[in-house]
Amino acid sequence: MRRILGILFLAAALAGCSREPQVKYVFYMIGDGMGINQVMATEQYNKATGNGPETINFAHFPMRGFVTTVSSSSLVTDSAAGGTALACGVKTYNSAIGVDPDGNPVSSLTEWAKAAGYGTGVATTVGVNHATPACFMAHTSTRRNYEDIATQYLDAPVDFAAGGGFITERKSGHDAAYFEHKADSAGITVLRGIEAFSGVEAVEGRVLCLGNRLESDLPYAIDREEGDVALSHFVDAGIRYLESHFGDKGFFFMVEGGKIDYGGHGNDAAACFQELTDFARAMDVVLAFKERHPDNTLIVVTADHETGGLMLGAGKYEIHPELLAAQKRSTPELTSLFKDTFFPEGKPYKAPSWEAVKDFFKAELGLWDSVEVSEKAESALKETYEKTFGKGGDRNLGESNLYAVNSKMVSDAVRCLNAAAGYQWSYGSHSGSPVGLYADGPAAAAFGAVRDNTEIAPLIASLAGYSRE
Ligand SMILES: [Zn+2]
Repeated sequence: MRRILGILFLAAALAGCSREPQVKYVFYMIGDGMGINQVMATEQYNKATGNGPETINFAHFPMRGFVTTVSSSSLVTDSAAGGTALACGVKTYNSAIGVDPDGNPVSSLTEWAKAAGYGTGVATTVGVNHATPACFMAHTSTRRNYEDIATQYLDAPVDFAAGGGFITERKSGHDAAYFEHKADSAGITVLRGIEAFSGVEAVEGRVLCLGNRLESDLPYAIDREEGDVALSHFVDAGIRYLESHFGDKGFFFMVEGGKIDYGGHGNDAAACFQELTDFARAMDVVLAFKERHPDNTLIVVTADHETGGLMLGAGKYEIHPELLAAQKRSTPELTSLFKDTFFPEGKPYKAPSWEAVKDFFKAELGLWDSVEVSEKAESALKETYEKTFGKGGDRNLGESNLYAVNSKMVSDAVRCLNAAAGYQWSYGSHSGSPVGLYADGPAAAAFGAVRDNTEIAPLIASLAGYSRE
C-alpha cells in the first residue's frame, strides 16, 4: 500500500513538473479611448497631485506592445468596429456590433468560452448595451440599436453582467428601468448598488449588477459621491460570482473602463486621468485574484482606440500636471453648476459680469489663481463670454460631443486649464493612433507577436482552450 501511494505521489509530482501553465481564468481589460499618452500622463498626474498610484499597474506588466486599430471602413475606428475586432477577431465597418462587413453575425470570446463550458462575465462603467460590451453579447448592424442589443443580452451566453444601467431609445418611450424589469422576468437576478452585491456568490443562475443611480452610466470617478458604485465594485462582485460558480472549470471576464473615452471626447484631462486611475484600481482587484491563482490567470489589457488626440506638451517644452489639481468636477458636472449659478431656474435672467465669470473659474479650475492665464487665452475666453452672455449671445452656447452637452464657456475654460498645464487635445473625436497592449500571466509573452487588434481574441481563445464555432 505504501509503495502504491509512493508511485502515485511520484507520478503526481512528475505531472506537476512537466505540466505547462494552464490558462483557466482570463481577464480582458479594455480601456475605451485609452491611448498610451493617456496612460503615461495619468502616472504623471497622480504623482503630481496625489490623486492615486504613481505607477499604473498594467503599464508595468511583463509584456508590453502596441496594436493597430483601423476598421474595415476607416483608418479611424469607432468603438463598435473596435469592439468587434477585440471581441470576435474580425475587421468590420464603423458602427457594426458583432457582424462582419456584409452584416453576417460573427461569434465572440464569450460565445467561444461558453461553448467550452467556461463561465463568462462582462462589466463596464457605461451602459450594459453600450458599444464595447455589446460586442461581447450581441450581433446587430448598428450600435444605435440599443434596444435590440439589450434584448439580445437577455439570451446571451453571459453569466455575469454589470454596468450603470441600460440605454433606451427615445422612440420606444421605454423608461430607464425597462430592461432591468425584462432581465428580472427572464430569470436574471438583478442587484442594484454596493450593498446588494454582497451576496452575489450565492445567486443561482445569471446575475446583473447595476449602479446605484438610475442612469445608464456610472458617474465619473472625479464626480463620485459616497455610496456610488465604481468599476472595482463590479469587478469584485464578478470575481466572487464567477469563482464560486466556475472556479473549477475557469472563466472569461471582460472589463471595460468606458468613460476614459468620455473624458477624451470632452477634452477633459482631469476627468480622463481619474477615470484611467479608476480602471487601474479595478485592475488591483484582478491582481489580488491573480495572487491566489498565479499559474492560471491571464490578464490582457488594451484599448479600442485613442480619443481626443492628446498631446503631451502644448507648445512649450514643459508639462505641469499639478495645475490640474484645482479641478474637482468633470466638465458635465461643472456645466450643471455653471447653469445653476448663472441661469438659475425660476429667476429672471441677468447677465453676469466678466469678473463674476472669472471668479467662478478661479474657484472651480484655479484659473487666474494657481493657473496663470495668458493674455491670448483670456481674450479667447472673453470672446466666448461675450457670445454667451453679451447682447445677442445665446446665453448657454451648448457644445455637444458624443456623450454630453456641455456649456461652451465651461468647455473652453477646461481646455484653457489643460493647455496651461501642457495638455493639448487635437479634437473631440477618436484618432487612428495605435494603442498599448499589456499582458501578464501564463503565456503572456505570446502577445508580443500581436500587431493588429483582430489577433488578440483568437490568441486568447487558443491559450484558454475555447471552442471557436
Ligand atoms: Zn471606444
